[in-house]
Amino acid sequence: MSETSPKLRAELEGIPTYKPGKPAAAGGPVAYKLSSNENPYPPLPGVMESVTAAASNFNRYPDMACSGLMEELSERFAVPLAHLATGTGSVGVAQQLIQATSGPGDEVMYAWRSFEAYPIITQINGARSVQVPLTPGDVHDLDAMADAITERTRLIFVCNPNNPTGTVVRRAELERFLDRVPKDVLVVLDEAYREFIRDPEVPDGVELYRERPNVCVLRTFSKAYGLAGLRVGFAIAHEPVAAALRKTAVPFGVSQLAQEAAVASLRAEDELLGRVGSLVCERTRVVDALRTQGWTVPETQANFVWLRLGERTLDFAAACEEHGVVVRPFPGEGVRVTVGETEANDIFLKVAEAFHREI
Ligand SMILES: *Cc1c(COP(=O)(O)O)cnc(C)c1O
Repeated sequence: MSETSPKLRAELEGIPTYKPGKPAAAGGPVAYKLSSNENPYPPLPGVMESVTAAASNFNRYPDMACSGLMEELSERFAVPLAHLATGTGSVGVAQQLIQATSGPGDEVMYAWRSFEAYPIITQINGARSVQVPLTPGDVHDLDAMADAITERTRLIFVCNPNNPTGTVVRRAELERFLDRVPKDVLVVLDEAYREFIRDPEVPDGVELYRERPNVCVLRTFSKAYGLAGLRVGFAIAHEPVAAALRKTAVPFGVSQLAQEAAVASLRAEDELLGRVGSLVCERTRVVDALRTQGWTVPETQANFVWLRLGERTLDFAAACEEHGVVVRPFPGEGVRVTVGETEANDIFLKVAEAFHREI
């Protein structure tokens, strides 16, 4: 065997690997997966039917332009078709946004801790991550982020609500921040959990985008819409950003199954959002119970809660797993726990109660 291996780009060295939420253990007590912020409900009947119908054609390539879905989105959000781009999940679209804006020598800024895909997709493109710490209350520090902008800043992610803390930035502070960002820097509002927001002071990114050509909104069908396994997300942005997204897309990346399911989900929206409403009620119940137990929980507007456990993070995650729920630990920092089925949430609460009594 030769000692020489193919030359790979140096940027790939030391890239953090994306850690998927652990699957629920097979054969455990009862196993619930609260580690990936998925929707616990099975697909709606109408969605299943359209996917099943599309399945009989998967010897064919999908519609590369995602025309049906694009038209549905255009109408739903009252945006021109030219301002829309789809991708393989919103992570796929986020990666395209970096490809389109940032290379070696450029800076991509985001809060930290935030979504773990950001450092990975930044480094893949050879750009440099600028991570601005969250405030002690686990909220984006938008003033510090604006202060950290340099000549090299090309793209800024604002994850609202923030993964994994669930915290939000509100209208006045976000607008003040956007006013401070130079017009040639792209601000990406990652709204993967938009449908779970109940705080009226949290702005809808689509409203902000209308007046601001350097704002791009990212949405996904993976969370509230329950299509995580089908990989489809989209961006709303002015030209030339949306056009750049169409250029950087993997050809035929979004399968026909995903396109049909997304359209069917939008048409079944009332029912879907009813389920989201139930999850929001569960969220309130979970947060209230944790606070009653004595935990400090940041206010969450997403479908998960954040417990800052520091050195006890892995012990807590192990205790949960022992009782049949899998959560998402960030070693040394905390755990993110998805609001799931009532039974699963109850198990998590029971473990949390016992754990808090010990400390
Ligand atoms: C889950 C999530 C996404 C969406 O991922 P998909 O690729 O659409 O499945 C995007 N951003 C954040 C912050 C998320 O938590």
